[in-house]
Amino acid sequence: MTKRTVLLIEDEEAISEPLAAALGREGFAMLVAGTAAEGMELFRDRGPDLVLLDVMLPDGDGRDVLRQIRETSRTPVVMLTARGEEVDRVLGLELGADDYVTKPFSAAELAARLRAVLRRAGDEPSDAGAKPVLEAGGISMNLETHTITKDGEPLELTVKEFELLRVLLERAGKLVRRRELVHEVWDPAWFGSTKTLDVHVSALRKKLGDDPASPRYIHTVRGVGFRFDPGDEPER
Ligand code: CA
Repeated sequence: MTKRTVLLIEDEEAISEPLAAALGREGFAMLVAGTAAEGMELFRDRGPDLVLLDVMLPDGDGRDVLRQIRETSRTPVVMLTARGEEVDRVLGLELGADDYVTKPFSAAELAARLRAVLRRAGDEPSDAGAKPVLEAGGISMNLETHTITKDGEPLELTVKEFELLRVLLERAGKLVRRRELVHEVWDPAWFGSTKTLDVHVSALRKKLGDDPASPRYIHTVRGVGFRFDPGDEPER
């Protein structure tokens, strides 16, 4: 299989260098540009398979770069953003972005998203043996379409909430340790605070309609981790 070429347009070297290295290890051929102008030049010259585009660039707004790309090309574009998610989601997707990722994110998560975008765009083969739908306790998560339902009703989750629930669902009924969750959902090298984990678990519980005092789904094992309960009975 030939390597897919990803053009990363990101000015912060503290992000672009480790990210390019990590995506390189994930099997992508990387091109890196630090400005919008350099990014457009590389885009025209090299014709990458996918563009990973930061919103805040020193010489312009990533969304203007996206507009320029869309004038001539359907090449998949994934936006990188540190801004408020809803705003960028609406703006980016209206302008023709294929997906967006909010910083901080792990390289593994991003690589999975890039593969999904490339698959949707056409010719990337599916991950062998990957299970596209996870189901437990009335929750159904489709990893291919990145959608989720609870008792048949669609749920709107942020990227991190989705990833957190994915890890818990994959190991439904079993204890998942805090450091494992942090490691899988956030790259610990980039993002070490486990307080963030609690904030996300709490937000996820809210969206699931879970009462933390008597949860149906996400049970706390104090100081150790969390367990997703696939059964229908609330814990007593
Ligand atoms: Ca930036």
